[in-house]
Amino acid sequence: MGVITKKIKGTEDVLPKRSYRWQFVENIMREEAENFGFKEIRTPVFEHTELFARGVGQTTDVVQKEMYTFDTKGGESVTLRPEGTAGAARAVLENSLINEGLPIKAYYLTSCYRYEKPQAGRLREFHQFGVEEYGTSSPAADAEVILLALSIFKRLQVENLQLEINSIGCPDCRSKYNESLKKYFSEHKDTLCKNCLNRLEKNPMRLIDCKNPYCAEIAKGAPSILDFLCDDCNSHFEQVKKYLAVAGVEFKVNPSIVRGLDYYTKTVFEFVSNAIGSQGTVCGGGRYDGLVEELGGPRLPSLGYAMGIERLLMVMDNQDIEIPLPEPCALYVAGLGENAQEKAFEIVNMIRNSGLFAEGDVVGRGLRAQMKYADKIGARFSMVLGDNELEEGRAKVKNMTTGEQTELALDESFAERFIALYTASKFENVE
Ligand code: ATP
Ligand code: MG
Repeated sequence: MGVITKKIKGTEDVLPKRSYRWQFVENIMREEAENFGFKEIRTPVFEHTELFARGVGQTTDVVQKEMYTFDTKGGESVTLRPEGTAGAARAVLENSLINEGLPIKAYYLTSCYRYEKPQAGRLREFHQFGVEEYGTSSPAADAEVILLALSIFKRLQVENLQLEINSIGCPDCRSKYNESLKKYFSEHKDTLCKNCLNRLEKNPMRLIDCKNPYCAEIAKGAPSILDFLCDDCNSHFEQVKKYLAVAGVEFKVNPSIVRGLDYYTKTVFEFVSNAIGSQGTVCGGGRYDGLVEELGGPRLPSLGYAMGIERLLMVMDNQDIEIPLPEPCALYVAGLGENAQEKAFEIVNMIRNSGLFAEGDVVGRGLRAQMKYADKIGARFSMVLGDNELEEGRAKVKNMTTGEQTELALDESFAERFIALYTASKFENVE
């Protein structure tokens, strides 16, 4: 076996046996987002490279090192989306959604691509659930998106996610803060990594979340952004905290959260787990009041976040959260001989049309092998059709758990009667 049968490093398959776990999580995300007034947005997997360079920011790790960028045959530079926010903002502008009333509330479930070092919780293709809210500068909106994340975690029964919040101010506070950071980090130039030395002039705030242990140690003593907030940013942050407190949300203020993308202003936050190793941030987001303008649109204060679905599933596994198994096969219909097999085919179809999961043979197996398969897929009931059954127009339906058999007529009301039997058996199982 050569390269054809090997997946690309940092990618994962979700196999048929496990996909119900993804669907369960995704369905809850959709339901909760819709309850909070968000509608799904789907944008292309690739965009003009320029969009991410502008939107995410030239000095970020994502743009400098992590993007999958290539030239098309037409000579355009395109990039696989490393995140969902820039594409959503582009779509909002391009389709003039602003004229349809504010705030615009959208959510997405998508794959993202980043050329990072693969490890537990860090992939090159990964998946995000994210929300975007455009056209509000009210702190109530900051609290609202956080409450949506919390209600998703609650429905999934995820515990032990710590909410950490911070404010990184507006460009005004930031420029004063950056000056003081430059001064502070300049005194430690010999210890800083090459990356940080590069960013010291252009974007000193990036140094706060450098993963290099030496830089991280120095960053601990750095000045805090909270001492540099202007009155407006300060009062916004106070109100966000008040709204969260009113909703009974527990959180911790962590001034070292700066987030890895350049577009953030004011509120930033993360939900962190300590149960899945060093890639513990399950959800990250905040406000980006300048993003839409940066992309050439009007001033449109906005906010949002993204959750890593792989990391969330890791937390759920770690916590042994039971995810409901998919609906089992209600009825397996086996056929013996050509005529009976045709009838079996017809009945399977009838049951499926009534909305239940039914199976029959499409391989051409003998009766024993068919029954073995019925067992393997965990069919709840089975029925064997042969010449006798066809002649009499009746057949025995067998409950595979209790062995109990019930004779049913093979007429047009078969489906109805089988469903009654099946539903009753489900209640018996519960008791
Ligand atoms: P990190 O600090 O872990 O690199 P980030 O700040 O780059 O995260 P965001 O860009 O804010 O992450 O993305 C939001 C969420 O998407 C993260 O909190 C995480 O759960 C998930 N995520 C980000 N990058 C990856 C990746 N390479 N593999 C898996 N999940 C990821
Ligand atoms: Mg990252």
